Amino acid sequence: LLPLGLLMAAFMVGLVVWVSRKRLSPLGELKLGVDKHEFIVHYQPLIELKTGLCVGAEALVRWQRPDGSMTRPDLFIPLAEESGLILPITDQVVTEVIRDMRHVLQADRTLHIAINISAQDIKTGRVLNVVQAALKGTDIQPQQIWLEATERGFMDIEAARTTINTAREMGHAVAIDDFGTGYSSLSYLQGLPLDTLKIDKSFIDTVDTESATSSVTPYIIEMAKALKLQIVAEGVETQAQADYLLAHDVDFGQGWLFSKALTAHEFIAYYQANRAQ
Ligand code: C2E
Ligand code: CA
Ligand code: CA
Ligand code: CA
Repeated sequence: LLPLGLLMAAFMVGLVVWVSRKRLSPLGELKLGVDKHEFIVHYQPLIELKTGLCVGAEALVRWQRPDGSMTRPDLFIPLAEESGLILPITDQVVTEVIRDMRHVLQADRTLHIAINISAQDIKTGRVLNVVQAALKGTDIQPQQIWLEATERGFMDIEAARTTINTAREMGHAVAIDDFGTGYSSLSYLQGLPLDTLKIDKSFIDTVDTESATSSVTPYIIEMAKALKLQIVAEGVETQAQADYLLAHDVDFGQGWLFSKALTAHEFIAYYQANRAQ
């Protein structure tokens, strides 16, 4: 009877361990993911509309679980930002990008990769040291790394100005992402030394359906030009949208019309086939 009791006890302990691991809180799981470096990067091509050539990519993080499943960023970035885990995640993204793209970036100075940064990355300014450290010992130019953040990232205007200025002194271009979805005033935008404005997908969705008179998109484009910003249209899905954007002198497009986000391997092949020769 004794061995059976021991067996039962061992089983119960095993069960408790199994259940508690299963019941790890979302934050606990995210922490484990950070500790185990489970974040990888996919790349969505950025197209110069005038030529139709690929000139860059946006780095988009994915959480790859040990079982192989992939979690989209919108499902964990909010928790990462709330908990501060976004800082080590940004570090991992920067490291991955340099590891994945080092050779192709060194071989072609006109190629750039845009990295998403959060409010905390901007507030601490720490991301700039991380990028600098990652570029050290490589032949990649700082100009080849763009940084992009939504206006939430620029909310602390003093921190934003400092970090943007430092980033630009280092040679990086800085973009405001998802433009038009927040509530930034134009004077606020004018006060930030940005290089690039990314028009949110919601303003691109309508350009081939709505009449120009009911759309604000042409005004966003004009405003960006008045501020001397380069323009990226995101979420371009149809040729009619691309035609509209080209007719309005928008510099770059990104979206499923051109390509979905690709693995590092796939992007390099895509780039070789669609770059300027
Ligand atoms: P975002 O910066 O606006 O990224 C573009 C998102 O739109 C991507 O989703 C992309 O796959 C998707 N998309 C691109 N083209 C099209 C299109 O033509 N049609 C449609 N329907 N969708 C398109 P994803 O990869 O799920 O990223 C979601 C968001 O997660 C990003 O939005 C970005 O805000 C955030 N994110 C991604 N990577 C990072 C990162 O490394 N750090 C931080 N802080 N945030 C990240
Ligand atoms: Ca982005
Ligand atoms: Ca967007
Ligand atoms: Ca965006």
